[in-house]
Amino acid sequence: MEVEFCISCGKGLNEEGSVIFKCPNCGEYTIGRCRSCREMGVKYKCPKCGFEGP
Ligand SMILES: [Zn+2]
Ligand SMILES: [Zn+2]
Repeated sequence: MEVEFCISCGKGLNEEGSVIFKCPNCGEYTIGRCRSCREMGVKYKCPKCGFEGP
C-alpha cells in the first residue's frame, strides 16, 4: 500500500527526505513521515496498534 501523506501533519510526501516505513511494533501499518516532522522529532502513532514513536 502506498502512503502519500505524513501521518503527523498530513502533508504530502513528495519532498526529499520523506520516509515511508512499516510500523516497528505491528509491522502492518505503513507510516509516512515528512522531512520537517522527522527533523523536529514529531511523534507518530500507529492507528492499528497504538504504538507511538519519535
Ligand atoms: Zn509531517
Ligand atoms: Zn502498529
